[in-house]
Amino acid sequence: MKLLVPVKRVVDYNVKVRVKADGSGVETAGVKMSMNPFDEIAVEEAVRLKEKGAATEIVAVSIGVQQCQETLRTALAMGADRAVLVLTEESPEPLAVAKLLRALVDREQPGMVIMGKQAIDDDMNATGQMLAGLLGWAQGTFASKVELSDGVATVTREVDGGLETVALTLPAIITADLRLNEPRYASLPNIMKARKKPLETIAPGDLGVDVTPRLTTLRVAEPPVRQSGVKVGSVAELVAKLRAEAKVI
Ligand code: AMP
Repeated sequence: MKLLVPVKRVVDYNVKVRVKADGSGVETAGVKMSMNPFDEIAVEEAVRLKEKGAATEIVAVSIGVQQCQETLRTALAMGADRAVLVLTEESPEPLAVAKLLRALVDREQPGMVIMGKQAIDDDMNATGQMLAGLLGWAQGTFASKVELSDGVATVTREVDGGLETVALTLPAIITADLRLNEPRYASLPNIMKARKKPLETIAPGDLGVDVTPRLTTLRVAEPPVRQSGVKVGSVAELVAKLRAEAKVI
């Protein structure tokens, strides 16, 4: 079975995000970029399935600017077999990404798409669900455990208040949550090997998809600075402040 793993290039999770001076977006110039952490978990899960013999080939795909090649090389160094870059200067919205992925699914015919539950830049948490909807495939979102047998993926999902286990008839979409696994670090020999693995570049038009944005960002702003607290000397002082200043009692 072939696995398709979409990986997004995002601002590294250790970087303190800064808003551009003109409020038009988030500063990315000179900022460290990395693979979206949930996508690393998805790549790791795909590699483990291949190591167990449940998958035969892993295709990583990234949609974005030329530098997404670095993200794809990371996926290849972790164990993906080949990569596809859908090159665009736009920052495609989830529906456009889902349409591009659907076109790639039609071309590649994977048995499963394993992806992140959300990209940590825009926090959309939408692409996997939209892709499942477009394809009419089963979906196991927020996966913390995946088991495969006889054309069925048994997925444990992290839902509010507990865990839910669903059985998906393949082909299916799986979106990875934090506790699914701990991604490996690529070893130096694997990083070297990854340089020679195939990386194909195509345009959204080659897949027949228009990625023109449908949303306009009006303004991006920092969250308001939190007021610092005060220490009170006694319960009486606390009650007085709650009554006179906070006016909550
Ligand atoms: P989102 O719905 O934007 O939060 O993203 C959910 C998942 O969709 C991510 O974790 C990725 O696996 C995938 N994805 C979203 N945007 C892209 C992109 N530009 N390139 C590759 N994969 C993407």
